[in-house]
Amino acid sequence: MGFNIAIDGPAGAGKSTVAKKAAEELGFIYVDTGAMYRTIAISLLRKGVDASDSEALERALPDIDVRISYQEGVQHMLLNGEDVSNLIRTPEVSEAASRFSAIPAVRKKLLDLQRNLAATEDVLMDGRDIGTAILPDAGLKIYLTASVEVRAMRRYKELQEKGQACTFAQIRQEIEERDYRDMHREIAPLRQAEDAVLLDTSDMDPDTVVQKIVAYAKERI
Ligand code: C5P
Repeated sequence: MGFNIAIDGPAGAGKSTVAKKAAEELGFIYVDTGAMYRTIAISLLRKGVDASDSEALERALPDIDVRISYQEGVQHMLLNGEDVSNLIRTPEVSEAASRFSAIPAVRKKLLDLQRNLAATEDVLMDGRDIGTAILPDAGLKIYLTASVEVRAMRRYKELQEKGQACTFAQIRQEIEERDYRDMHREIAPLRQAEDAVLLDTSDMDPDTVVQKIVAYAKERI
């Protein structure tokens, strides 16, 4: 059994940026579970399945094969063999992932994939329910957050750099709606695990956050 680090938190808290770097410093495998939900979402969007149509969803899920592969240490998402890593970071997919991830059958589909990765390797896994539901025995749990203004600004800049048209107000609203859904769904809602360390990154640069996570991990390994 490997040493597991769970990082949870709302959208735009900087999870993937710092998690990737912290994993690299520690020599751990970084697992981005949001990318898995995004992969299922893109498949369901393509199939035209609506999140409220549970019958269509039950029919579609068995044919969706989600796999993860690592190329030069970078996580790639494979959807029925197709590398969709470059297609999953749009606002449309973010929103769809948040809607579909509230459905128990969707979460169940990813549970084993996530737990199996953590069973044998030292992993640093980020998501919404890693410390509370997926890896409740993780050796270190971090709850990473920041003010909604800061999170929306980070996401806005990220999308601008990629040349995607959007306004700050639009991104802020999307983030607020997504957080509300993620925190209020019935199954595995986003919340801080009782034994998680809270890190508010509103006034911290990414390197400071990485160093804090690495230090917490070294205390416990
Ligand atoms: O982390 P990221 O923004 O890529 O996640 C996209 C969406 O996937 C989240 O808004 C959330 O609804 C869902 N998700 C989840 N559980 C996880 C990871 C992501 O429900 N462990």
